[in-house]
Amino acid sequence: MALTTEPSVRTLPVADMASVKAHTRATLLRHRRRLVSVVALHALAATASLAAPRIIGELVDGVTHGITGAQVDRLAVILAVAVVVQTLVTWAARRSSFILGETIFADLREEFLDRVVALPLSTVERAGTGDLVSRTTNDVEALSWVVRFGIPSLFVAVVTLLIYGTAALLTGWQVALAMLAGVPMMWASTRRYLRYAPDGYLRERATYAVLNGVVTENVEGARTVDALRLGARRRARVDEAITSSMAAETYTLGLRVRWFPSVEFAYIAPIAVTLVWGGWLVSAGQTSIGVVTAVALYVQQLADPLDELLSWLDEIQVGATSLARVIGIAEVPPDRVATDEVPDGQDLLVSGARYAYRAGRDVLRGVDLDLRPGERLAIVGPSGAGKSTLGRLLAGIDGPSAGRVSVGGVRLVDLDLDRLRGEVALVTQEHHVFVGTLAENLRLAKPDASDAELLEVMAAVDAHDWVAALPGGLGTVVGSGGHVLSEGQSQQLALARLVLRDPHTLVLDEATSLLDPRAARHLERSLAAVVSGRTVVAIAHRLHTAHDADRVAVVEDGQITEIGSHEELVAADGPYAALWRSWRDEPADVGTSAS
Ligand code: ADP
Repeated sequence: MALTTEPSVRTLPVADMASVKAHTRATLLRHRRRLVSVVALHALAATASLAAPRIIGELVDGVTHGITGAQVDRLAVILAVAVVVQTLVTWAARRSSFILGETIFADLREEFLDRVVALPLSTVERAGTGDLVSRTTNDVEALSWVVRFGIPSLFVAVVTLLIYGTAALLTGWQVALAMLAGVPMMWASTRRYLRYAPDGYLRERATYAVLNGVVTENVEGARTVDALRLGARRRARVDEAITSSMAAETYTLGLRVRWFPSVEFAYIAPIAVTLVWGGWLVSAGQTSIGVVTAVALYVQQLADPLDELLSWLDEIQVGATSLARVIGIAEVPPDRVATDEVPDGQDLLVSGARYAYRAGRDVLRGVDLDLRPGERLAIVGPSGAGKSTLGRLLAGIDGPSAGRVSVGGVRLVDLDLDRLRGEVALVTQEHHVFVGTLAENLRLAKPDASDAELLEVMAAVDAHDWVAALPGGLGTVVGSGGHVLSEGQSQQLALARLVLRDPHTLVLDEATSLLDPRAARHLERSLAAVVSGRTVVAIAHRLHTAHDADRVAVVEDGQITEIGSHEELVAADGPYAALWRSWRDEPADVGTSAS
């Protein structure tokens, strides 16, 4: 990955709030049955908990007006039964809501993974890793919290509030009017908060993405940072990213700091008002002390669900912005729309292909190339000439901005990815060893391959010896945390996957560059034997590859300037002949290596 001093600011799309709402509604609807049972169970639990204040109220009135021991006993038994029932129902309700939360979250995660995996490669490369990493970690984590605990709690809080409020009104509606005392303040401060919070949280999340990007780049490019003594500058970048993250967090913290105390006050105030107002009603002979006690207890119990409701409202703001970022990934336009055309033949044809990474700067300026099925073509040329870019077009990763690249008469970008990879595939210097056994790594390319077949392809890429020497053979766990493969071995693994996949055209971009020159040449020859009959395009930085090829294409400044067999080009005494002479005299990597 390129090390830039700029953060990866080109972020992926974020869904708007309307889509977030629609998505949430659809999700809840999908789980409506469970949702109804969660709400019903919690309603039952809340109803059971109504008994206690009522009974305590009756006890208070009993003490004031006289009560028998038997009556006290009866009330105590009812109280005990109510508490046991409440506990059991609460347990069932909690269990049910956790299951609901986990189910919804599992859905979300799977959906997210599907979307990420389906992202066009070019988009992922452009957006940088920071944003995607931050969405997969911070955002999914924030969402998990809200989905698992927030959604159930929210429903529970609303149901409980309604039931307590109704109970208070039924017990003594005049006294219960005091409940309304906190409403204006709560309304005003919450409205204000909700007006500013979503933007604040979105900004906060975006700064995390930048921070992640900068840190990832530092880690991935640690050696470069070291070599170029960029340490101080990179540290300053990290500091800057932390500072803006902190500013964004301070802003939302400020919003919360103003909001919390006012709502806190708004649900304490009604209790005091109930007591004062109830006292006045009692002295005016309008109600009994028992009713005031019961209502005051209900009003006090309102504080809990209210608190729950409002604090989740806050978390839900965070969750909604995270959800917007998670589902926003689906808004990345596909970079290809597969048609159902089927290639007629295996001819790979490039005509008038142009390509620019940045508008106005054509990296390829009209390339024509007619690959003959089964031939081995080497592409050579100075660094930055456009060889890798041509390789990407040949493999259908990017489509040309003008001209066309087609196989059997069908444009590569019109093929669906699965079909495309069956036709032509690319191996570059960048490869990944997945965590898992060596066999699993290989079977990614061909799930039904037998062990014998796997050993065969490993032998084809000259890897037989080291595979045999592995402690568990094909069953050895490799990748991060497992047996460490050298760069060269990883490259052999990547090539072996390609051989297993067996497309009729292989594009190798520096695919053997991490091996020492002799091993590389040997590997190329073994490979040639296995893939004989296949078309191979090798982007070469060592000219022996060109020497061994059927044809050599020289790419200079975005165009193919020479093409022909090694002998023809040497005889023509053009740019290739010059490259060849200098390489033969000093067979190190020549200027033909890519960046
Ligand atoms: P080669 O493989 O011959 O070294 P490349 O195809 O890698 O050449 O690059 C051709 C030109 O395109 C270079 O100037 C390079 O800087 C530019 N380039 C390559 N990749 C990108 C990219 N992802 N974004 C912008 N410019 C790029």
